[in-house]
Amino acid sequence: MSTLLFQQASFLTSAANVSQAPADRGFEIAFCGRSNAGKSSALNRLTQQKGLARTSRTPGRTQLINFFALDDDRRLVDLPGYGYAKVPQSLKQFWQQHLDHYLRSRSSLIGLVLLVDSRHEPKPFDLAMIDWAKTAGLHLHVLLTKADKLSKSQSQQALFRFQRERRAIGSSQLFSATSGLGLNELGGTLSGWFETAIGSRGQDLL
Ligand code: GDP
Repeated sequence: MSTLLFQQASFLTSAANVSQAPADRGFEIAFCGRSNAGKSSALNRLTQQKGLARTSRTPGRTQLINFFALDDDRRLVDLPGYGYAKVPQSLKQFWQQHLDHYLRSRSSLIGLVLLVDSRHEPKPFDLAMIDWAKTAGLHLHVLLTKADKLSKSQSQQALFRFQRERRAIGSSQLFSATSGLGLNELGGTLSGWFETAIGSRGQDLL
């Protein structure tokens, strides 16, 4: 099963800036999205660990970059949620700067998982992340979250519309942390990225 790897996740460290991050070796995949998009719930569901990433009813509170080890070589990263109105502007700028630095400088970063609430249109910052991933040559996978809140046909329409309008992006799928919809697809996609990265490192060593 493609999600087994993720059940091994264990908390590694929280970083307030890139200099506090773990050594930039191996490979990592970062989860990002607006506050309240369902990022913590998705990480908890993927790793089958209810308390791994803190789900919070006060969005915008978790302002650290959290690193989780899967094994010696592979990590998941929980980036601070962005775009929550109650976070003061100065804090927003501070975090955008640190996020930007992380995204630009981290050589072990191989891909981004962007979470967008399936009931809403992507916002400018979401689109900026999509552009950024493309420019940086990173894998990008978009989760249209909370799909259980829509009917089957509404959620299919949301996915269809997203894929039609954002044709240039890597891949996207419906996801529900509540029902588990799309869990295997997510696990399979991320495992595939890790496998490709590890395979190409092998090639470099030849
Ligand atoms: P984060 O701020 O992006 O980490 O979002 P959270 O994971 O904390 O989720 C925000 C809110 O949405 C919480 O009240 C969650 O219980 C709820 N939520 C998250 N994922 C789902 C889902 O798949 N279905 C439903 N119905 N609610 C969800």
